[in-house]
Amino acid sequence: MGALRMVILGRQGSGKGTQSVRVAERFGCVHISTGDVLRAAVAEGTDLGRQAQEVMDAGMLVGDDIMNGIVAQRIAKDDISDDGVLLDGFPRTADQAEALEGMLADLGQELTVAINLDVPVEEVTKRMMDRGRSDDTEEAIARRLALYEEQTAPLLDWFSQRDLLVTVDGLGDEQAVFTRLEEAIHSRLP
Ligand code: AMP
Repeated sequence: MGALRMVILGRQGSGKGTQSVRVAERFGCVHISTGDVLRAAVAEGTDLGRQAQEVMDAGMLVGDDIMNGIVAQRIAKDDISDDGVLLDGFPRTADQAEALEGMLADLGQELTVAINLDVPVEEVTKRMMDRGRSDDTEEAIARRLALYEEQTAPLLDWFSQRDLLVTVDGLGDEQAVFTRLEEAIHSRLP
């Protein structure tokens, strides 16, 4: 079984963070959550953290150049060449998707699959209100969902045109969703 290189797309609150941890463990690849990278930078008070905090609290997107730089640096490390990677929260814009394609090409690597973890807007809104994270104000949630439709949803077509997209139903209990993900990934692994 070759190393898994995948991206997971889905609205905030779709469960992609939780599922990504499990998928990465199951397939032995490195999990990169760009949201976690940014939250760690905020907690450490680095320059990046100071720049990112306001943007994140407002429910907006951190700039493409910053995000592409973070991922390009991380993805070039040996552990990812050897074991593969699951990108969670990246790409979120067309610019990021193009950049990712370039980074992988430079490394002589290709994506295995792009999973769309599909959960309807009404359900993710309810889940996010329930989780009560500090950046989960009602206004920020609405803005992030609108941004997702505007900036990230078009990537579904982008990946579909490259024959990489598989949509997985994200409704139901965690184990049921995980089993669907496992099957979807197995069907694509060389
Ligand atoms: P997440 O944990 O994936 O929901 O990310 C939390 C926040 O971090 C987002 O609302 C954005 O402000 C920021 N963020 C994470 N990943 C990206 C990305 N790829 N591009 C731009 N902003 C991002």
